[in-house]
Amino acid sequence: MSIQPRNTNLSKSSLIRGIQCSKALYLYKYHYDQKDPVSRQQQDKFDRGHQVGILAQSLFPGGKDCTPPNHFSYQQSIQATSALVSANYPVIYEAAFKHEGILVALDILVNQNGKWYAYEVKSSLKISKTYLQDISIQYYVIKNCGIQLEDVFIIHVNGDYVLKGQSVDVHQLFKIESVKEQVEALQLDIQNAINKARSVLSLYSIPEVETGVHCFKPYPCDFLGTCWKGQEKNPLFQVAGAQLADKIQWIKSGINDMKDIPKEYLTSSRIIAQVEAHRNQKPYIKREELKQFMSNIQYPVYFFDIEAFQPAIPIFEETYPFQAIPFQYSLHYAYSADSPLEEIEFISPPNIDDRERFLTHFLKATEKPGQILVFNTLLEKGILFQLGKLYPKYAKSIKDRIQRMVDLETPFKKDWYYHPKMNGGYSVKNILPTIEQSPLSYDDIKIKDGVDAMVVYQKLLRETDTTVINKTLEELIDYCRMDTLGLNAIFLELRRIANEDL
Ligand code: SF4
Repeated sequence: MSIQPRNTNLSKSSLIRGIQCSKALYLYKYHYDQKDPVSRQQQDKFDRGHQVGILAQSLFPGGKDCTPPNHFSYQQSIQATSALVSANYPVIYEAAFKHEGILVALDILVNQNGKWYAYEVKSSLKISKTYLQDISIQYYVIKNCGIQLEDVFIIHVNGDYVLKGQSVDVHQLFKIESVKEQVEALQLDIQNAINKARSVLSLYSIPEVETGVHCFKPYPCDFLGTCWKGQEKNPLFQVAGAQLADKIQWIKSGINDMKDIPKEYLTSSRIIAQVEAHRNQKPYIKREELKQFMSNIQYPVYFFDIEAFQPAIPIFEETYPFQAIPFQYSLHYAYSADSPLEEIEFISPPNIDDRERFLTHFLKATEKPGQILVFNTLLEKGILFQLGKLYPKYAKSIKDRIQRMVDLETPFKKDWYYHPKMNGGYSVKNILPTIEQSPLSYDDIKIKDGVDAMVVYQKLLRETDTTVINKTLEELIDYCRMDTLGLNAIFLELRRIANEDL
């Protein structure tokens, strides 16, 4: 039987995988079915990149778009691009090129006075090494297709931009930086990477590559589910406060339990708390510190949690790119240990700048005296501080609420309490299952964490079906309510432990 020659064609994304790991490249090309499914958060990142890319096109209006109708029709894009280039067309979007089987699509190609300029758009605030690698591949292919690029730019989001008025000023929102010098310096590396990738793709069996830190950096690999099968739930991955390289080394040396972490690694209070709790199979408690902390919290108390989203492109006046915009809060109030919890929920309809109503609603809901318990006050304090700047007439009340805030994360952050069932996780979601008396569980609700809530709400900004909107808002309320009910359960548990007789 004759052996068929391999198709060693590469795309930019497969080459980038190849630079990270030969096996990832091979699996991507020949065993695509083993690729891990795309998570909701990854999909959101792609969608955000796409939206930012479309908006950046308006920096160079009037271009011809060569986007193919689907992933299998790139030949059509290459031909369309070639025709436009031959005609010296002034602006081409998604310009596609292929050289020696390597396919790339450039976001914007501009012809000015007979000279060509390449622009790649990134929905982030700064230029990373991986972005430079990305555009270096494009430069390599375009140049080898016979187009002399006068300059090469990365367009990225300007973090200092503040939206004034109703519409975004794209010339202020984006920063355009020339990277030609860096890109030219990387050309030899790209050539070497292509040669290596080609030899990998000409193999007839999956190359053997040991798992390691490279599986997670610079990108989490798409084939973790294949290569780390059986290990993905290894609790050592969950150890908080340890280096990834150390965790991998422990796993490879056959350690499967936190209690077996070698002594020489027990250097930080964070790791010590976890290992001791797992060795003794009971909570690690610094009782004096915990007692002292809990004695400073007295009824009545509020349990408070905010959810926020962070649009790359500002949508409300006086906001900047990626600013955390509050859209929801949950509040539970307990007058005393015996009184029932009073609940207040607030959620903004999507696409409305509801920040003042959010603020006044919260200020009214917290008028009665009482400490406001929050799990990690960073977001809540930051948002109230921002709202105070935006609406100075409420500054006094905001200051009062911030002063009344107590961070219930403190005992966990300072390692005064760690339960072995937390499995290295320090969120409300991780702590709740450790409380035997609590019937609360995130398993019973659709939205499971804050990042998920943010992604789901951002999607609503583009949703028009009111049934979907209302259902999603209900799910978000369920999630945020769970956070503050969970906070109450954690508070009661810490109080019980602090008052326990030894
Ligand atoms: S999981 Fe690691 S070893 Fe496996 S393909 Fe990905 S990077 Fe390579």
